[in-house]
Amino acid sequence: MSSHPHNVLPWVVRRTRLPLLSMRCVDCRSESATTGEGKFRVNANGKLLDVWLLARCVSCDRTTKLAVHERTPVRSFDPAELHGYTVNDPELVASRLLDPLLARRCHFTLDWTGAWRLDTPSAWPDVAWPVQVEVTFQHPVPVRPDRLIAHGLGLSRPEVLRRIKCDIPLRRPTNSGFAFTVMAAD
Ligand SMILES: [Zn+2]
Repeated sequence: MSSHPHNVLPWVVRRTRLPLLSMRCVDCRSESATTGEGKFRVNANGKLLDVWLLARCVSCDRTTKLAVHERTPVRSFDPAELHGYTVNDPELVASRLLDPLLARRCHFTLDWTGAWRLDTPSAWPDVAWPVQVEVTFQHPVPVRPDRLIAHGLGLSRPEVLRRIKCDIPLRRPTNSGFAFTVMAAD
């Protein structure tokens, strides 16, 4: 059962697959790479470990190694994490790929096109206007609130701007939870 009061509708943004990586291929100049199913490479050098997440160009298949850990003492790893790297644990792949530090260090941005969905309650409840909606993010998918709301409510964007009261800017992409109020149509 939901813990929300009945007049607050919960919306959830979820990842449906791993996003692509926007990064320029040094061979073919393509701008898009994928981690596919997700594969790590671990290399031991004495007591130091390198861990990479592998990405390949979607056009020419050239492989790029994204450094997750560089020359890191073996003993500083949590054994469960280390095991996750050796078995290509999908949750670990997702958490490393979505870590903004990795993107910054390896100079890529995430392309979320087609890699997420919005879950809304199936029926619009029979409640008094105005209606409150609370949006939570299961994964940090950057969305423009005005587009998300238009999609979720089946409204045009001018109508969203007219009928929505929101405590954050509607046109600026966000990936953290927010709430808004839908006013009745005139
Ligand atoms: Zn390429």
